[in-house]
Amino acid sequence: MDQEQLNLIIEKVVATLQKTNADTPILQPPPQNAQTKYAISARPSATGQAIPLEASARHVHLDKATVELLFGKGARLTPCRPLSQPGEFLAQERVKLVTQKGELASVAVLGPEREQTQVELSLTDARVLGLDIPVNLSGDLTGAADVTLVGRCGSVFAKGCVIAAKNHIHMTPSDASRFGVKNGDTVDVHVQTRRPLTFHEVAVRVKGSFALAMHLDFDEANACALKEGDRGTVISITAAPPCKNDCLQTPSPPAAVTDKLLTEEAARRFAQSGAKNLRITKKTIITPSAKDALREAGIIIEHVE
Ligand SMILES: [Zn+2]
Repeated sequence: MDQEQLNLIIEKVVATLQKTNADTPILQPPPQNAQTKYAISARPSATGQAIPLEASARHVHLDKATVELLFGKGARLTPCRPLSQPGEFLAQERVKLVTQKGELASVAVLGPEREQTQVELSLTDARVLGLDIPVNLSGDLTGAADVTLVGRCGSVFAKGCVIAAKNHIHMTPSDASRFGVKNGDTVDVHVQTRRPLTFHEVAVRVKGSFALAMHLDFDEANACALKEGDRGTVISITAAPPCKNDCLQTPSPPAAVTDKLLTEEAARRFAQSGAKNLRITKKTIITPSAKDALREAGIIIEHVE
């Protein structure tokens, strides 16, 4: 059986599972508000493509000042081995996490140093420490809990830095176009493991320096009995709501064209800008080759007065 046949079978199984879920209210994902939900059939390009799954164990990211407080004046993190995301490494240094309720010893430190200290735990870990922590995307410390970090040379009370990392997929811009998604979209990912399950509302993060991988924490990895080499399949896509100012890769706003004539060259220049909506006046003449270029680039023409 080749990969394509296998993918077809997976899609069928997933479609059946989704249908079953629809009859079982308790398994329903929360309503999608004003967002657009694409059915499997509507976005065939995204389906059947495998994403490597990786489980992240509990770890901390430290800012420079905290590294010095824990490991001594002038200390920097020492790389022990590289991680799957380029530039990231597991450090030789370890820390202990302490609260009034409990402690976790020898917790991994990931380098390089970051702008802000962040502790990423599973919800099971949080129970051990008696902490109530939010499930946030990395970098979002809204509602994060406090913990004391203990290093070789000292300790630091780190206020508002403990979260459970929300599951997410790292991908490059070319992966993103292959999957038909953009930064900030969410996807549902089915994992066909010994305990098959579907993760809903998985965040898509797109950056040139990323390597394709879906990151789960240990609770999630155990929930689906993850083992090395397991892969996930995108089964549906929810487009991100229109961005305000805070998106990393904001789609360009519709561009206006005031020229009387839109040539192929101008069309191609517009396509390169990455914008998807071209606004033109009803008086603008579009040359046939410009029309072709816009269609090839998937650009939508909007006529304005
Ligand atoms: Zn990650």
